[in-house]
Amino acid sequence: MNLDKSISIIGCGISGIFAALHLKKRGLKNIRLFDKSRGVGGRLATRRSSEGKFDHGAQYLKLDDIYDLPEIKSLIKNNILKETKVPNVYIGDDGMTSIPKFLSKDLSVSKEFKLIRINENKDKISLIFENGQEIISDSIIFSSPIKQSIEILDRSNVNIDNDKFNGVRSLEYSPGIILMIESENSINLNYEFFQENPSDDFSFISDNYRKTISKKENFYTLICSTNFSVKNFEKEYDEINSMLKPELDIIFNKKYNILSNHKWRYSIPINFYPNDDSLNIGLNNFIGMCGDIFTNGNFGGAIKSGISIAEKYMKNEV
Ligand SMILES: Cc1cc2nc3c(=O)[nH]c(=O)nc-3n(C[C@H](O)[C@H](O)[C@H](O)COP(=O)(O)OP(=O)(O)OC[C@H]3O[C@@H](n4cnc5c(N)ncnc54)[C@H](O)[C@@H]3O)c2cc1C
Repeated sequence: MNLDKSISIIGCGISGIFAALHLKKRGLKNIRLFDKSRGVGGRLATRRSSEGKFDHGAQYLKLDDIYDLPEIKSLIKNNILKETKVPNVYIGDDGMTSIPKFLSKDLSVSKEFKLIRINENKDKISLIFENGQEIISDSIIFSSPIKQSIEILDRSNVNIDNDKFNGVRSLEYSPGIILMIESENSINLNYEFFQENPSDDFSFISDNYRKTISKKENFYTLICSTNFSVKNFEKEYDEINSMLKPELDIIFNKKYNILSNHKWRYSIPINFYPNDDSLNIGLNNFIGMCGDIFTNGNFGGAIKSGISIAEKYMKNEV
């Protein structure tokens, strides 16, 4: 294995970061991550608004079978990842984004690099980005949500195994609508800082102050139910907010303010890739795919998928 060969990873979410960390650990010298956003972490996302803080992607983490990974131990040792009073429920100490920020600090990350298409030319891959940049790489790993990876590959000129590629076309995510709310008063929740299914249109509510990530009190994240999100995803925020008003009025006794909304087009996988934890579809060069849809749709699964694609690369499966 030539450790000087270049590898580009599309997406700096947790799966892409773990793919990069594991390739680096195995001695790869030329690894570069690209993300379309201004920050790292993908669906591990924290937002500041009106002096408060909200996790508006993943809400809490279960470590189960990833607990013994050295990267997880290091996150715990450095107080980036901390256990809550709810047993086996972990959070990012300063919000979820503190986790990808910490893990990617020694990696080469290019932000605001949205990949549009790739062109394969013999043993090299040319990556074309929306900002006009073109980067040449020996290999590529897509850790972007699979629908976005498929769109890119469909407009690309590449030599891939179409049978394998067609196997991921049926994978789907549900969309998600998230509300960030400042309430006048604190409300009761079933668990220490959260409650599942608080009403018909909401599947989850979390108190970011009691979670200890917001210094200001009564900052709540509400995740709309899959049913509501699917039905109303394309609507304008104002219309969505007025549809949710009756339930919000009950939950917060009419004393609240919607500070912000967020829409995730690809929120939680509906179905999963059944055959493996990751996939290489390249025939000439390594063209890998990973992400939470290859495993179980959560933090731990995304990590396992990132490690899996790194292992496939090291076995040189082309
Ligand atoms: C509302 C919500 C609540 C959740 N709650 C939990 C929870 O409580 N516990 C839990 O364990 N999990 C939860 N999850 C799931 C968890 O967030 C994901 O499983 C995990 O973060 C997925 O990581 P990933 O690396 O596979 O994908 P992502 O985090 O989606 O990373 C993909 C990255 O690719 C980038 N990208 C996409 N297209 C391009 C492009 N063309 N060019 C460059 N970059 C691109 C994106 O910007 C993104 O950063 C939740 C998710 C959501 C949305």
